[in-house]
Amino acid sequence: PITANQIAAGEVVERPASVIKELVENSIDARASKIEIEVGESVLSYLRVFDNGMGISKEDLPLAFQRHATSKITSINDLNQLLTLGFRGEALPSIASVSELEISSRTADSINGWKFRFSGGHLVAEEAVGMPVGTDIIVRNLFFNTPARKKHVKSESTELGHIKDILLRFALAYPEIAFKFTAASSRQWQTDGKGDYFYPLVLNFGEEIASKMLEVKGESADASIKIHGFLAPPAFSRTTRLQQIIFVNRRLVRSRLISSIVEKTLNTLLAINRYPIFCLFIEIKPEIIDVNVHPTKMEIRFSEEDLITKVIESAVKEQFFPQQ
Ligand code: ADP
Ligand code: MG
Repeated sequence: PITANQIAAGEVVERPASVIKELVENSIDARASKIEIEVGESVLSYLRVFDNGMGISKEDLPLAFQRHATSKITSINDLNQLLTLGFRGEALPSIASVSELEISSRTADSINGWKFRFSGGHLVAEEAVGMPVGTDIIVRNLFFNTPARKKHVKSESTELGHIKDILLRFALAYPEIAFKFTAASSRQWQTDGKGDYFYPLVLNFGEEIASKMLEVKGESADASIKIHGFLAPPAFSRTTRLQQIIFVNRRLVRSRLISSIVEKTLNTLLAINRYPIFCLFIEIKPEIIDVNVHPTKMEIRFSEEDLITKVIESAVKEQFFPQQ
């Protein structure tokens, strides 16, 4: 029989890259300063995310695999003050329900860690293990028990491409975290976690563009909106929006509004009509954002569109046309 977790998994775990995204977000929420991501011979056979975050205690481990058990929201009001990436308590139980998942975790106040193994969501083994503080999750045989879902998985290179893309975005949004990515079938990269943007920009946009990008910065008078980012000179502009990367409160999003503000500002000033390459980090009071959308939906909406437009517009103008 299909379980509720497997149904939820249909929404949360669309493809191997969604597993990686959810696991890395949990590592970030656990305040890891080092996150290692490993993909095995095939994306379905082996995915691993290993962090040095706060870990999960033995008592909390089974809870983490119960639906809607999250340690991150204590009251419904917190939803408006959301500072963690996760809050639904759906990812781990969903992933476990459609794979063979092994989790080892240790908190600082314990002298050893605990390893739990699940198969199709059922706990099958539990043992004490020696390990550093942090969490190590291995997902094997993804979708082994949901053949319909498995059929939707695209070619190895397509799926690996999605994983790479998502990890490169994390490296850019969290330069203070040292990421290390290895994949059996492709070249690896790592960041040093020292907070510099340059190398993450190189990884995302290539050396030539990264070295020519200009920094933009700005904020609203009441400081409810702050923006920071890097724009490639218009000569590099493209015919698609594929190289526009937007983070809102360090969450990767899509926003037609924000894309079009940057585009309009640059295109109007330069009388061209192309898609500029940029990444933009927007910090915004959580109550102005509607986070309560579909779990995997990336399109974001704001309630203060005019203010956001003004802040971005003037930051871009100031950098590209300082005299005006
Ligand atoms: P959510 O992130 O929405 O809370 P998840 O299903 O992703 O739900 O995770 C469930 C819980 O497991 C989290 O609330 C957190 O307490 C714990 N957890 C998951 N991954 C980690 C990790 N890497 N380090 C520490 N705790 C974790
Ligand atoms: Mg989560």
